[in-house]
Formats: sequence, structure tokens, C-alpha cells
Amino acid sequence: MIYIIGSGIAGLSAALSLHKSGHRVTIITKKIKGGSSYEAKGGVAAAISPDDSPELHAEDTLKVGDGLCDTAVVNYVTSEIPKVINTIEDWGFKFDPDLRLEGGHSRRRVLHRLDETGRELSTFLLNLAIKEGIPIVEDELIAIKVRDNEVMGFVTKARGEVSDVDKLVLATGGYAYLWEYSSNPPTNMGDGVAIAFRAGAYVSDMEFVQFHPTVTIADGDVFLLTETLRGEGARLVNNLGERFAFKYDERGELAPRDILARAIYMEYLKGNSVFLDLTNVKDLESRFPSVASFLSRHGLRRDKVPVFPAAHFTVGGVRVNTRGESSVRNLYAIGEVADTGLHGANRLASNSLAEALVFGVNLPQYIDEWVGFVPSDGIVEAVKINGNGELSIGEIRRINWLRLGIVRDGEGLADAVKKYEKVNMHALGEDWSNAALVSYLTAKAALTRCESRGSHYRVDCPFKSNNWAGRRVYLVMAR
Ligand SMILES: Cc1cc2nc3c(=O)[nH]c(=O)nc-3n(C[C@H](O)[C@H](O)[C@H](O)COP(=O)(O)OP(=O)(O)OC[C@H]3O[C@@H](n4cnc5c(N)ncnc54)[C@H](O)[C@@H]3O)c2cc1C
Repeated sequence: MIYIIGSGIAGLSAALSLHKSGHRVTIITKKIKGGSSYEAKGGVAAAISPDDSPELHAEDTLKVGDGLCDTAVVNYVTSEIPKVINTIEDWGFKFDPDLRLEGGHSRRRVLHRLDETGRELSTFLLNLAIKEGIPIVEDELIAIKVRDNEVMGFVTKARGEVSDVDKLVLATGGYAYLWEYSSNPPTNMGDGVAIAFRAGAYVSDMEFVQFHPTVTIADGDVFLLTETLRGEGARLVNNLGERFAFKYDERGELAPRDILARAIYMEYLKGNSVFLDLTNVKDLESRFPSVASFLSRHGLRRDKVPVFPAAHFTVGGVRVNTRGESSVRNLYAIGEVADTGLHGANRLASNSLAEALVFGVNLPQYIDEWVGFVPSDGIVEAVKINGNGELSIGEIRRINWLRLGIVRDGEGLADAVKKYEKVNMHALGEDWSNAALVSYLTAKAALTRCESRGSHYRVDCPFKSNNWAGRRVYLVMAR
């Protein structure tokens, strides 16, 4: 049996593709409609228009990835995604006919369904999986059983030990919920990363956490104002009426996310407030119905929506090759839990759904033969986890916002490392233990990388360093 853990777009697309190619699959998931996939607003990047090409898509991805993308993976994903879109459409899903423009893209290439692409696509895939008879069970993975670096089984909260496991596919999403301000749902605390790390898998690029520049909150309701709005004319203004984005980057509102998130953060540090002005976005009600409904629900003005940056996407994760294979035999990772090398030091908008779909839909091509991932392009640190204390999720989210946030420094990172070292990161099935382990790995990697690149910005090492070009930080459990 192939077990897939997680029912986001990565898990569901892999399950359907494997099932359709004759494999027996079961999905186990913490929450059937949990995960970031249901929240995704913008869409899926794919070079499908006549004035576009996979090469241009790859070029844009490499530019935003800031010298750390794995070029082979970039070429693989950008050339495969148009074919994978055809497959999804053959399964019956329909994207809207127009393509949208988002920051960092040199062409209109974002496929979408209104402004609820993630919800629409996830619901479609879920209904199809149910129709095809794929078992989907609500339960929680807590550990992987490994012998001689090979998966023997796994343990869940409700079922206990499961041993009829031919392959185990992690599709548990990222860990961006672990910051106090976050666009992610609470399912996304990095369980898969923590569990795979304890099982001996390499994790990498943990220091690269993308902050979305324009998240808003009203009456406790957190809402992401999609990047596409800025592509369609929305402007960032501060309380002094200045369109300040151009002071930080010549591309203004269309600059990549890390630059805009930092720009907004800096405005707040100066004591200013920041707003998104949607006056120039045409046909807001019909083209961005979820935005229009959020504004009217909370009585917000269209020309003055308060925005702040929030943790949004985690580049790092379980390191895999282009086949989705980790370094532990028969353990796969796909979607945001994985680090494929596609995003480098920063993610180009709408590339994560593209990555989740390519690795999910293409999995049957690789599943019958094992190659396995071996690190070759960076430094490897063996990490010990010996603490015995506890920290609450609230405390962890606060530490991460203050120490591992948009602007970092060596002293703050060392302080976070020290705090997490004291926590019991072996406690299985405890959210706080997984969360502390993932945060610890993030702090370790961020401390090791003394430079600023992509989404990782350190005031004490404010420039890119040649020593770090093309080098990633791999972390593995000390034996
Ligand atoms: C507000 C928002 C907007 C976004 N917009 C876009 C966009 O427009 N375009 C784009 O490309 N990307 C976007 N992203 C990012 C994108 O949504 C995610 O990267 C992508 O959906 C990840 O899919 P996934 O299947 O890997 O994980 P998820 O969709 O996060 O699913 C994870 C699954 O794992 C399950 N799970 C977690 N832990 C366990 C456990 N221990 N045991 C069992 N199950 C577990 C969860 O229940 C869930 O089903 C957005 C993200 C957010 C938060």
C-alpha cells in the first residue's frame, strides 16, 4: 500500500495520479479540508500563452530564487507544468480563460479560478478522489519507523502502528503557521519536517521563510490580499499618502515579495501605517469576489485597506530529488513539506501550486524504482536534540516572529537557538515538540548563513556573500 499523508493539492493530486495508474493508495490527513491549499488565492503559474515559454518562466524563477535555485529542478517544473495542467483539465477541472500577472513574472501566466483557485481546485480533487473510491482517513502521523535507513512503517495518533507500507509519501504542507503573524492555517506547523528529520532524512533551506507583504485582519479574521491585486493596479500607500514602494525598488508594487515585505516592515518601524489602495482595480466584485466580500463584511474602505506582512510560505523542508525521493528509502515528500530546490532563496508567486502539482501528478513515473537523494551542493550539519523542557505554541510563534522574522541578526538567532535547545524535541505526537524542532532547525540554518539572500535578511550580514552562492545548509540528526 502507498500511504499519502496530507490532503492538500500535493497529496490529492498524487493520490489520484497513482490510483489512475493502478496503484493502491490511502490518504491519511489531520484535517480533510485543512492545509494552505484551500486558502490559495492567486493561482498556478504555467507558461501557456503564445508570447510565453517555459524558458522565460524558468528565467523569472531563477531571478527571484537569488542564486540558490537548482537549475535542473527549475527547468523540470517549468517545462512539465503546462502538461500537468492539461492532465488536470482532462480530469475535468476548468481554469478561467484569462491569465493573470503577478509580481516577479515577466508575462501573464497565472492560471486561476476567480480569486479562489486553491479552494476550487482542492474541492474538485477531493470530490474526484472520493468518487474514485480512494480511502481518506482523518488521523495524524506522529512517527516514521525506519530500519537501516528504509521505511518499515509509521505511527498515527488513532491507528497506532501501521506496517503494510510499501511507500510513504509526505504531503503535510509547510511550517509558516509557526510565526505569530501568519497567513497559514494551524495544520501547517511543520509536522512532516519534524517527523522526517527524526527518521533520519536530510532537511535543507530551512532559513528561507517567505513573508507575504499584504495580509490584513479585521475582527480577528486574517485575510490575504493576493499579489494579483498589485498586478491589476492596487497601490501601496502609507499614512502620509506616499506611494513608498518605489523608494525601496524601481519595480514599485511589482517588486518581489521579500522586498515589499521588508519595505512595509520598515515603514512600520518608522512609525507609519500602511494601506493597500484598490481604487484602480477594475471590476473588483466580479473578478475578486472574496476580496470584495471581505471588505463589505468588515466595513473596510476600498482605498484604505490596512496591511501588514505575515509568514506565508516556507521554502525549506525535507530534501528531495526531482523524483520526490528523500534520503530515506521509500520516503517521499511532495508539495510544501518538501525542499526540491525549485524556489532557491525565495519563491516566485504561484510557483508552489505548480510545484505541488508537478511532483504530485508525475509521481507514478518514479514510484516503482528507487534512486534516493544524496546531498552534493552545500554544507551538512549534524544536529543533536537533547533538551527536556517545554514551550507552548504561542511562545514559539512569538520567538519566531521576534527572532526569525523579516529582519534578523546573529544575536537574536543565537538566542532562539539557545531557547529551543532546552526543549524536548523527541516528544512524539506533541505539536509543541514538532514546532520547537522545526523552529530550532530554522534558527540553526539562519545562524549558519551569515549573509542576506532572497527571503533571509540579516542586518549583521546585510549583503550577499560569494562564499554562499549556490551553497545550501543541510541539517541531519546526529547519530
Ligand atoms: C493564504 C494563502 C494563499 C496562497 N496563495 C497561493 C497561490 O495563489 N499560488 C500558489 O502557488 N501558492 C499559494 N499559496 C501557497 C500554497 O497554497 C501552498 O504552498 C500549497 O497549497 C501547499 O500544498 P500542500 O498540498 O503541500 O500542503 P497543504 O495544502 O498545506 O496541506 C497539508 C496537508 O497535510 C495535513 N497534515 C499536516 N500535518 C499532518 C500530520 N501530522 N498528519 C496527517 N496530516 C497532516 C493537513 O491536514 C493538510 O491536509 C498560498 C498559501 C496561503 C496560506
